[in-house]
Amino acid sequence: MTFTRHKVNSRVVQDLKKRSTIGIIFYIILSIIVICADGFYTRQPLASLVFFFSNLGICLFRLIHLKIARETGDNYETFNRGVFYVSVVITALVWGCMLAYINILDGEHITQLLIYLCICGLCAGGVVAFIPYRTLAIIFNIAILMPSVITLLVKGLNPPLIIMVCLFSIYMVLIAIRGNKEYWDALENEYLLEIKSLELAHLSNTDVLTGLSNRRHFNDVLDREWKRSGRNKNLLSLILLDVDFFKKINDTYGHQVGDEYLIKLAETLVSVFKRDSDIVARYGGEEFTVLLVDVDVAHTLQLAKTALNSIAAMTINHKGEKIGTTISAGVNCCIPDHNTVSDTIILGADKALYMAKQRGRNQVVVLE
Ligand code: GH3
Ligand code: MG
Ligand code: MG
Repeated sequence: MTFTRHKVNSRVVQDLKKRSTIGIIFYIILSIIVICADGFYTRQPLASLVFFFSNLGICLFRLIHLKIARETGDNYETFNRGVFYVSVVITALVWGCMLAYINILDGEHITQLLIYLCICGLCAGGVVAFIPYRTLAIIFNIAILMPSVITLLVKGLNPPLIIMVCLFSIYMVLIAIRGNKEYWDALENEYLLEIKSLELAHLSNTDVLTGLSNRRHFNDVLDREWKRSGRNKNLLSLILLDVDFFKKINDTYGHQVGDEYLIKLAETLVSVFKRDSDIVARYGGEEFTVLLVDVDVAHTLQLAKTALNSIAAMTINHKGEKIGTTISAGVNCCIPDHNTVSDTIILGADKALYMAKQRGRNQVVVLE
């Protein structure tokens, strides 16, 4: 698995926050319904107040914490996650203790029914909301349901209800485990797909032999830079380079040696044009091209000459023999005119390259 842990972590934390925020409001609304619907608060004012205010307190704390966690970002990730876990478990315990208390009261059938309905919904909602972290989903359910199971057992009350609650709890745990696996499988597939599309995009822009940008990618970049430099009135420089007498290398030593030469030549070009903004590409066959943004004519010419000298000095070894040749370059520098297309700059550089070949090769010609 090559997808980055940090990226996945922050994605999971985002998912958890989004999933659990909606629920927080419901805890408050549901607690009001439970204590008000059948007048429970008039018969059990203290229990109602403790339940309502602890519920309200923890929910408000969670909302504020979500906001703070969003602002502090990744800096306190582990701390924030810990606070989030603890506050979720406290919410569950508040409801779990209230359920346990109402269970042992006589004659509170309506309130019991209401709180059980709420608990079913909260348990199911909790499983969905906390599914990215299986343990949290499981602990949340146990913290809600177990206090009443324990109290009922201790008091020796309602065995069928104990069995039902236990079965429901087991069912929720199983769903949490299954859902968690599906969540992580889906996340893994999503990231694999993203990585594959990035790899594919990279491959479709790269020349297989030299690893440089290919012509298609170069044309895209040139189009973009042509428009941008036109808008900003920046100078754009294009150097077209063609290996001199390359056919002779192929014919004398074979295509593979020719390939080896092209690979080394590409490395040399990259070592000369090393600014991040310099675009070096294989234009086709033994032709290469370089795009420089906002570099003046004199500097472009100097860089082209450095490239020519480096390539003239460059050789590859073949059966103890040093093989090398020279390269010619045509340079065209202009401030793009928005009425013309980007091909204009290539045509000009090609014309200059033709002149360099005509004048005897191994030289740079700048289009006047
Ligand atoms: P000039 O100085 O006029 O440019 O002479 P040249 O021999 O370089 O020019 P020409 O266009 O006649 O030959 C280019 C050669 O480049 C012919 C072709 O087989 C070779 N070539 C093109 N692509 C590749 C490649 O990927 N690998 C190898 N080994 N050779 C290639
Ligand atoms: Mg050629
Ligand atoms: Mg050539």
